[in-house]
Amino acid sequence: MAQIIDGKALAARIKEKMKTQMPQLKAQYGRLPSLYVIIVGTDPGSQIYVRNKINAAVSVGMDARLIELPEEISETDLISIIHVLNEDPLVDGILVQLPLPAHMNEERVVDSIAKDKDVDGFHALNVGSLWQGTHCISPCTPKGIIQLIKSTGIPICGKVAVVVGRSNIVGKPVAKLLLDENATVIMTHTFTEDLKSLTLQGDILVVAAGQEKLITADMIKPGAVVIDVGITRNASGRLVGDVDFDAAAAVAGYITPVPGGVGPLTIAMLLKNTMECFLNHAEANSSASKIWATVINARIGRTNE
Ligand code: NAD
Repeated sequence: MAQIIDGKALAARIKEKMKTQMPQLKAQYGRLPSLYVIIVGTDPGSQIYVRNKINAAVSVGMDARLIELPEEISETDLISIIHVLNEDPLVDGILVQLPLPAHMNEERVVDSIAKDKDVDGFHALNVGSLWQGTHCISPCTPKGIIQLIKSTGIPICGKVAVVVGRSNIVGKPVAKLLLDENATVIMTHTFTEDLKSLTLQGDILVVAAGQEKLITADMIKPGAVVIDVGITRNASGRLVGDVDFDAAAAVAGYITPVPGGVGPLTIAMLLKNTMECFLNHAEANSSASKIWATVINARIGRTNE
């Protein structure tokens, strides 16, 4: 029987640790990390997502603000608001909740966020850096998936990892992060022939398709680590993943539940990304002020002591 990977508990530990760091950050840098979340319109699902993100940020002691904008705001006005936040030195992270209304181009809006404040890791430059292997802000869900796999203690290096789904927000970036951990990655998608023959090879199986019970027990390698990213509401109104959980748990070594698996890690990684942006900004500001102090001291003939 598989061990359940408890995403809720892991996320709680990550958040607890972050909370303990806040007083020291405040003492060292004079302020706390800040996250600005923008929501356009009144979609009930999106409203819940943004409130969860804000509440999580507040719960660890971050400065979190929600900017609610009307459905009919123009793309130009939305981008102008983002530009104001980009220029504000007290803003560390900016997140625009997707999807946006149909009259907006999501790529243009996301790419208008400053690269160093793009806490979702969706900006084209961050995506490029991810694939180049240079420093970047990694997207939250894929980053959380790696944490969940690592929490099992099973090494990723050298293992065969099968990813089901190739979206820009989950499938593709998680495949790259697994590659960075030296896994041998097999990517699959809707056009994949004989999916089962491939999933059966996975020591690690990450499923992000959004199809209830796509992965049945006979498609899982015995002992595999199974990460179920899918969240859909089934005919009886229950939130379900992509894996036939009860049967799969009899075969897998480790498995994430839905809900309570990947979801909580996505939010915890959003906070980690905000913290990373804050530290980059705070360090850049303090080294900039040290350089200016040296320049000014030299001008007025004072020595640095
Ligand atoms: P998407 O619809 O953009 O992509 C789905 C991918 O799955 C596609 O690449 C498609 O080729 C593949 N796919 C679909 N049916 C398939 C099949 N029968 N066989 C093989 N491949 C198939 O979805 P997404 O944005 O990547 O999200 C996937 C799921 O993960 C959704 O249920 C979504 O709600 C969930 N999700 C959860 C979180 C979280 O934090 N827990 C975050 C993002 C997405």
